[in-house]
Amino acid sequence: MISTKKLTSSSAAFNSYLNAYVPHEVAVALWQDEYTKTEPLVYVGEQVEEGQIIARDSRSLCQIHSPVPGKVEKFSVISLPNGKTGPCLTIKTEGAFSFLGRPRKKQQWDFKFADQLIRDIGEKGIVNTFYKPEPLSRQLMQQKLRKENRTIFLRLYDLDPTNCADSFIAKNYMPQILEAMSILAHIVEPSAVYCLYDKASNIKEDAAAMNILFNTVPLHFIPVDVSKYPSGGTFDILNLVRHFVKAPQELSISRKDLFIDSMTALSVYEAIVLDQPSMTRFVSVGGEALAESKIFKVRIGTPIKNLIAECGGFCSQPSKILINGRIYGSAISTFDTPVTKYTKSITVLPKRLLDFLPTSPCIRCGSCRKICKAELQPDKLYMQYMKKMNLSSDEMKMTLLCSECRLCNMVCPSRLPLFQTINEIKKIAETHYED
Ligand code: SF4
Ligand code: SF4
Repeated sequence: MISTKKLTSSSAAFNSYLNAYVPHEVAVALWQDEYTKTEPLVYVGEQVEEGQIIARDSRSLCQIHSPVPGKVEKFSVISLPNGKTGPCLTIKTEGAFSFLGRPRKKQQWDFKFADQLIRDIGEKGIVNTFYKPEPLSRQLMQQKLRKENRTIFLRLYDLDPTNCADSFIAKNYMPQILEAMSILAHIVEPSAVYCLYDKASNIKEDAAAMNILFNTVPLHFIPVDVSKYPSGGTFDILNLVRHFVKAPQELSISRKDLFIDSMTALSVYEAIVLDQPSMTRFVSVGGEALAESKIFKVRIGTPIKNLIAECGGFCSQPSKILINGRIYGSAISTFDTPVTKYTKSITVLPKRLLDFLPTSPCIRCGSCRKICKAELQPDKLYMQYMKKMNLSSDEMKMTLLCSECRLCNMVCPSRLPLFQTINEIKKIAETHYED
């Protein structure tokens, strides 16, 4: 574990949010998660309303809605926040908003069956952003099919400590998050719900008043020392819960359970209680190359250059743009990249911080082995993979224990892509050794 003190930003600018200006044009990516590929339902020149379904996947797991009212201008291929390229449709903003600025009436949901709620979550386009973006409705269907005990875990802080969107939402929207968790508990019928929160925050006290929502399912709050990294991955959370409960041997929890972050919980609340599709995100924008740092509530499809302009532009020459944090993030090459449902942060780094240093051969310092909590040998696995040597089945299976914390990369003085290599081996191992 490492201390996050040097990594985190304690900027006062991240204590409140601004509504970003509605852009005159949005670029809505048709791939808003890692599993569904949607097809457009509109044509160029068509007039669309705010919240209208504009793209759908074949199983309606995660539909896409127009974040603005306007006219469909064009279809094109754009750079996405995950560093890949993909199709998008551009909508020119014009006409009256159906949701923006209009108060929403709370809907009753407790009389609905689980299947109906899952369908609503798919129709509203909710993506679970706990780790890799995935349609929540797909995960809920998988949970319903599981015969064994089910558990829901809610992370109320950021996976990457250089982000702040999830902890910001947890701090400001706790009643909404807990109502969302009771909706998910109604669907999944878990044996318990665990809410993991930053022990330095006062979240638990806020939450106690909402326990009434959980009259049938045990709700546990677990304080976490988030000043230590890693603490937010699936493996970390399972370990924290095992450590916290009195009789861990009686616990039946696993990676197959449902893991949710604050952002996803808030989206569930908006979808089910406010009957509102997924059209906005909270995104933090900062980094040493920007004049100011801010958190925005922003329309999906907004180009990130608009948010940078709202931060007062650059204070030094930008050299690298990172989406979703300095540890877990992806680098992108253009400021035209739009915000998607899985965008949580934008970090712009200046040239002076990025002296290019090439990789060099392993010096056998042992740092990667020492820091790896899964007790892997990242240097050895890297060498074997690069030399195309066959790995034993035991070595392959061991990679399944990798928690994807990336600490091996962080400590390697030779800057070798250890995590990326182990992840490649892990993908092969998953197809062979996981049921
Ligand atoms: S191999 Fe690297 S990424 Fe995987 S658990 Fe070990 S240190 Fe973390
Ligand atoms: S940290 Fe890097 S240089 Fe050191 S043993 Fe591991 S791979 Fe080799």
